[in-house]
Amino acid sequence: MKNKGKVKIDELKCSFCGRPQSKAGELIRGESGYICRDCAEAVFELFSTIERKKSNAVNVGTIVSKTPEEIKKELDKYIIGQEYAKKVVSVAIYNHYKRIKYNNENDTPVKKSNLLFFGPTGVGKTLMAETIARFIDVPFAIADATSITEAGYVGEDVENILLKLVENANYDIERAEIGIVYVDEIDKIAKMSSGPSITRDVSGEGVQQALLKIVESTIANIPPKGGRKHPEQEYIKLKTDNILFIFGGAFVGLDEIVRRRTGKKNLGFGHEIRNIMEFADIKNAQPEDFIKYGLIPEFIGRIPILVPFENLDEEKIIRIMKEPKNAVLKEYQTIMSMDNLDIEWEDDAIEYIAHKVKEKNTGARGIKSIVESVLLDVMFRTPSIKGKKKCIIKKSDIEKGNSPKIIRMK
Ligand code: ADP
Repeated sequence: MKNKGKVKIDELKCSFCGRPQSKAGELIRGESGYICRDCAEAVFELFSTIERKKSNAVNVGTIVSKTPEEIKKELDKYIIGQEYAKKVVSVAIYNHYKRIKYNNENDTPVKKSNLLFFGPTGVGKTLMAETIARFIDVPFAIADATSITEAGYVGEDVENILLKLVENANYDIERAEIGIVYVDEIDKIAKMSSGPSITRDVSGEGVQQALLKIVESTIANIPPKGGRKHPEQEYIKLKTDNILFIFGGAFVGLDEIVRRRTGKKNLGFGHEIRNIMEFADIKNAQPEDFIKYGLIPEFIGRIPILVPFENLDEEKIIRIMKEPKNAVLKEYQTIMSMDNLDIEWEDDAIEYIAHKVKEKNTGARGIKSIVESVLLDVMFRTPSIKGKKKCIIKKSDIEKGNSPKIIRMK
């Protein structure tokens, strides 16, 4: 007799789902039962989720255990100047994760406070966001506001920002849900009518609305990589309640708006194009000034912590070249010591470079390209010279475009 579709009485069964071997496939035998592949995978998944929950709890806990003073000390290792911004950010980060911890344990939730970094280009805004995320060890994503479009238009959807965060968290959704997102160039999506410049994107308001959607507490549906190609492809669901959003932008001309409001005399033409902003003025910026600039009230209303950044003078540019853990001069020394070369910089050579960087008016951005061009010839010749070597970089050589001398050492 054929017993097709029927279970043999003596057939082995999975002790978890009860399916017989003929349906469940290979079974693994334990002390007092059997498990099929599907059940083993489900159990593995369950244990991983429990582990993740535990480690997230630990994660938020360890972040909160770092005091604002400890956070600032870490920022000091990488960021020169910006004392006021570092202080505000240290307190904001501490409060943000304390709030997550509190909300996990209490019924009346405390609302999240997102941040707005503003001030001249190249003065450490992006660096600050990156440094903080690395230090507290949460997933981090950077996006550019100008690449985002209103829903339905050609360009990136806002959800792609969150997808970057999920990818950077290695698809660990719970970790991504306590991550940090930095959205740069937010001043470029100000609406056209009220800002001081006439070159703004008309669709700015729509993009602000789209961003508002993910900044507010919500569960975002994120299409998996490359958009949803098939209708049956599942969306990734991500809760944005605890994701900290940091918006960054230069907001050139904001100082003039503040001065106008406070009745101070304007400094005249030129500031807008020169990337110079009076810190004393932007430090007093209020939400209404950003609305004047072209941010919509609902949007700025979601970013209560305003963090002004200051210009970098030549002395700070010199310190940026020399002091941070990953300072440019240290970097080149490390690279060149692999070829047995010691680089010695004369003080006036460094001052000369700082002066050139300052002239460019792009904050500290210009440092690397100038140092690279000063050292180009040295980097070209050094590897072919055997033994220990030394090279002294002099101001006169840089000025005249002469190649610095490489001296063989005994
Ligand atoms: P932005 O303010 O435009 O976001 P970035 O943070 O991208 O500027 O700065 C560009 C680069 O210049 C950084 O990667 C860093 O190397 C250097 N830099 C700028 N400001 C500082 C600073 N205050 N301290 C140390 N390095 C800085």
